[in-house]
Amino acid sequence: MNDCIFCRIIKGEIPSKKVYEDEYTYAFEDLNPQAPVHVLVIPKKHIRGLKEAEAVDAEIVGRCHLAAALIAKQRGGEDGYRTVLNVGPGAGQSVFHMHVHLIGGRTLGWPPG
Ligand code: 5GP
Ligand code: ZN
Repeated sequence: MNDCIFCRIIKGEIPSKKVYEDEYTYAFEDLNPQAPVHVLVIPKKHIRGLKEAEAVDAEIVGRCHLAAALIAKQRGGEDGYRTVLNVGPGAGQSVFHMHVHLIGGRTLGWPPG
C-alpha cells in the first residue's frame, strides 16, 4: 500500500523511532504520546483494521499483542499497562493500518474516554 503511512514507516520511507521488530511485526514510538510509554505495534502485512481482519490473520493479531507484552516487560511496565485497538472512525481510528497502542508509565483510568 503506497498511500498508507504505516506501510511507508515499515519500508523506512517515513522515519520512525523503532522499538522492536520481528518477522511479522514492527513497533515504534507514537508521534503524539498520550502517556510516558506510548508505542504502536503494527503488522508488516497491511490489514486495514481489526474489523477487516480475517481468520487467516488470527496469528498476526496475536503476535502484535505478544510483541506489545514483550515491550512492556522490557520497559518495566508490568505493574499495569493497556493495549488498545481503536476500531473505526467512531472509536478514534485515524490510520487505517491496524495498530495496537501500548500505553503505560502512568495510572490509567477506567473506563477509557
Ligand atoms: P489511531 O487514532 O488510528 O488509533 O492511532 C493512530 C496513531 O498514530 C496516533 O496515536 C498518532 O499519534 C500516530 N501517528 C500518526 N501518524 C504518525 C506518524 O507518522 N508517525 C508516528 N510515529 N505516529 C503517527
Ligand atoms: Zn499499511
